[in-house]
Amino acid sequence: MTPKSPPPADCLFCRILRGEIPSTPLWQSEKTLIIADIAPQAPFHALVIPRRHAADIGEFMKEKGGPSELSDLFATALALIEDRRIDRKGYRLVINTGAEGGQTVGHLHLHLLAGRPLGWPPG
Ligand code: AMP
Ligand code: ZN
Repeated sequence: MTPKSPPPADCLFCRILRGEIPSTPLWQSEKTLIIADIAPQAPFHALVIPRRHAADIGEFMKEKGGPSELSDLFATALALIEDRRIDRKGYRLVINTGAEGGQTVGHLHLHLLAGRPLGWPPG
């Protein structure tokens, strides 16, 4: 369960999606927006954000249309990965979920990290 899940009116990523807070868009589809992370943890760090508000992956998948929207989330990430040739050296897609999963924004998002060797296991 994700502790912090504000309503869409107050949600940081919903506000970015509505254009109320500035961001650096990198790619988009009808259902997904990809922006640059404001505090990059790697030379390339993007956030792949579904336009529909859901606190986390569990909530997102329970809604009608969730599986096809999840497919769009990954397909849109892959379009950017192919366009930037990020697949040449490798990358990581991560979904932090809940307090112990390291989630700080209660709106589902994929992290796309690349540009340096990424350690495993993560901290
Ligand atoms: P998480 O901690 O997995 O929920 O990821 C939230 C991410 O959102 C973090 O990597 C933050 O750096 C990033 N973030 C927070 N505020 C902004 C913002 N205004 N624009 C872009 N990224 C942000
Ligand atoms: Zn939201």
